[in-house]
Amino acid sequence: MSITRHNWTKEEILDVYNKPLMELLYDAATIHREHHDPNTVQVSTLLSIKTGGCPEDCGYCPQAARYHTNVEGNDLMSVRQVKAQALRAKASGSSRVCMGAAWRNVKDGPEFDEVLEMVRTINKLDMEVCCTLGMITENQAHRLAEAGLYAYNHNLDSSEEYYKEVISTRGYQDRLDTIDNVRKTNVTVCSGGIIGMGEKSEDRAGMLVALSTLNPQPESVPINALVAVEGTPLEDQKPVSIWEMIRMVATTRIVMPETQVRLSAGRTEMSREGQAMCFFAGANSIFAGDKLLTTPNPDVNADMEMFELLGLNPQKPFIKKMQPETVEAVDSQFEPLGEKPKWTRPEHKIERNEEAKLKAKEVVK
Ligand code: SF4
Repeated sequence: MSITRHNWTKEEILDVYNKPLMELLYDAATIHREHHDPNTVQVSTLLSIKTGGCPEDCGYCPQAARYHTNVEGNDLMSVRQVKAQALRAKASGSSRVCMGAAWRNVKDGPEFDEVLEMVRTINKLDMEVCCTLGMITENQAHRLAEAGLYAYNHNLDSSEEYYKEVISTRGYQDRLDTIDNVRKTNVTVCSGGIIGMGEKSEDRAGMLVALSTLNPQPESVPINALVAVEGTPLEDQKPVSIWEMIRMVATTRIVMPETQVRLSAGRTEMSREGQAMCFFAGANSIFAGDKLLTTPNPDVNADMEMFELLGLNPQKPFIKKMQPETVEAVDSQFEPLGEKPKWTRPEHKIERNEEAKLKAKEVVK
């Protein structure tokens, strides 16, 4: 059984990333099976609750106010609208809703209060609720935790060195500080990055060093392929090859065995065969819905067809934070798919919050 290490060096990670592909795939798939059910993939829905008009200058982002893109700005959605979208997502097989707002940072006030209400509302739907709202203080992290937030997303995007090439309005340490604020609560951390922004393999390894040396490691790591949007500084970047994506997913799986690796933006450019190799290499989550915030994404029916073709099952909510006996009880509610998976559930470092425990018991009932 592989162990979780927090002392990976850039050289070691580069050695993994550059292994002969068959060896890399074999190693990643072996570790994946030790820690996860290889036939289960979580389906998440990303909802843009406040679109465009962002004061930041992230070079990949069509929502930055300073770039001339086709993104139409929208004010904060209402709680009712969010609930309707979440219900639709749940009906399509999603177990997690991630709400994104194009803010530099969260400001206390009526809009944040609305977001807290959205978190409470989705929580009542027995779905994992995640937010990505920009930088947050420790106090705001606690308020989100009290509302029942399951995860907070704040991506490192790239290595510390390359980050400066893409974003100038805030620094790497600001990102780490927000992650640290989230860690002071029982909310899980979701943090990953984007490949295909012109960075070198060393930068990809550097980002994985920054993530894997966090202790605990993030529970969720999204790996995005850049979607080059006209009007952004990165509009001319060539699409990243599927082989690089597979290598990045496999390397992430090896250095962070327990984390949920999310195959995120850029899936419209990937064949089913390519995505299947990413699942084999350790990706165990996708985002569903025809839009990822503002960029295109495969539609839900196409994804469900792919799941059927590959024999994959959508993951039920709260699995990663459940106590083993609760997971067994929830599992027993569903038809087993052939042989029992040969994996052991990791002992989770983070205690589930009491509310989530109660919710899990309700699911069992
Ligand atoms: S990625 Fe987020 S912070 Fe950066 S410009 Fe886009 S919305 Fe703003």
